[in-house]
Amino acid sequence: MSRSRVGVLALQGDVREHVALLQRLDAEVVPVRRPEQFAAVDGLVIPGGESSVIDKLSRIFGLRAPIRDAIAEGMPMLGTCAGLIMLADTITDAIDGQQTFGGIDVVVRRNAFGRQVESFEASLDVPALGAEPVRATFIRGPVVETVGPDATALAALDDGRVVAVEQGNLLGISFHPEISGETRFHQRFLDRVGGRSG
Ligand code: GLN
Repeated sequence: MSRSRVGVLALQGDVREHVALLQRLDAEVVPVRRPEQFAAVDGLVIPGGESSVIDKLSRIFGLRAPIRDAIAEGMPMLGTCAGLIMLADTITDAIDGQQTFGGIDVVVRRNAFGRQVESFEASLDVPALGAEPVRATFIRGPVVETVGPDATALAALDDGRVVAVEQGNLLGISFHPEISGETRFHQRFLDRVGGRSG
């Protein structure tokens, strides 16, 4: 099978960490800032950062429409933190006029964790990734408040709040696996990309 050629949306956020992790997994990685770059990839990672900025820049750079079309056509995507917000159909606590790409049938609340605990680590069971728990780093992360009928919850905190979801080829997580060195979400994303183009 040829190497997967995937993009990391490089408008704002922790782009480099995702690029490095995907390269470790032997993918060919392209930072995506322009529609021509996006047209050349078979999958997209949307990094953490600030979702309202990613939203605005994606419109300014002409990427919003092509990304939404690609989601409708089933392109595999992985969104972490702000990236999960961008993939949610509905968000709460948005700034005025903030939009998402949508695609995952969930309601996501931005900045869901209180001030003192806005950044923390947790050990999560993610049965879809195997028995080994996931070491998850949360940084001003969102939570999934409602999982609609088309989406599936993959992981929840001990208090039941959902922090990882999947729908078709879209995967959205509240935390930052690229920081804790967790590779299985990115591998799952790459498997989807390979399954489509291979
Ligand atoms: N709070 C940020 C937002 O609303 C997300 C934080 C992150 O991606 N680490 O986009």
